[in-house]
Amino acid sequence: MNILVCGSHFDDAEVSCAGMMQNAVQGGDKVYIYVAATKVFISPSISAKDCTTRAEEQQAAINYLGGYGWFEGGFVDRHLGNDNISDDHYLTLVDSIEAAILDSKADVIFIPYGNTSTGGDTHQDHVALSQACLAATRAHKNVFYYEAVSSIDFNPTVFVEIDIEKKIELIKCHKSQMGQKWEGSDLELEDVVRGMAAHRGSQARAGKSMGAEGLLPIRVRFGSLI
Ligand SMILES: [Zn+2]
Repeated sequence: MNILVCGSHFDDAEVSCAGMMQNAVQGGDKVYIYVAATKVFISPSISAKDCTTRAEEQQAAINYLGGYGWFEGGFVDRHLGNDNISDDHYLTLVDSIEAAILDSKADVIFIPYGNTSTGGDTHQDHVALSQACLAATRAHKNVFYYEAVSSIDFNPTVFVEIDIEKKIELIKCHKSQMGQKWEGSDLELEDVVRGMAAHRGSQARAGKSMGAEGLLPIRVRFGSLI
């Protein structure tokens, strides 16, 4: 089975779905990652070198995971919803995701959570990608929402039991992101990921020392997947 995980940013797929992807690779599935925003918006705090570093970290993560590859969207960080460059920006984003679906020959696709009333996430790029993914996967049989650390009102009904220590090791491939405080809190990304895994693990009735990742099916065609 071929699996595609679509993320707005470098490390989104791993932070949300590392455990699922690791289980899939162990089971013989081919895992691909799509990263939409691989370019930086001109900012005093971000340099072009940062972008190269992030791309190298993404490749290291794919190598460590044993994944088949990752697709580079080429869109601008923080401007996935509108780059003010192209009138056809949204269509270009949808086309880019569709190309990744085609190239990966994905049997199952995982996309960021979206919600029409709240947007489903506090990050504008996640909201934009979720909407574009919903359009890009419209003809696909098996599509799931995954949970981001910034998701709002995410209530999963499907769980994947994961090894949280293995998940953290994969996320650590994104070295530049480790040790940073997360979104105005005193917690680091690793703390947030561990907390989420423990919470979803309790909901999933996971085994001792295990955690879980939560998913929400958009469409699953029984027989084509299970
Ligand atoms: Zn993100």
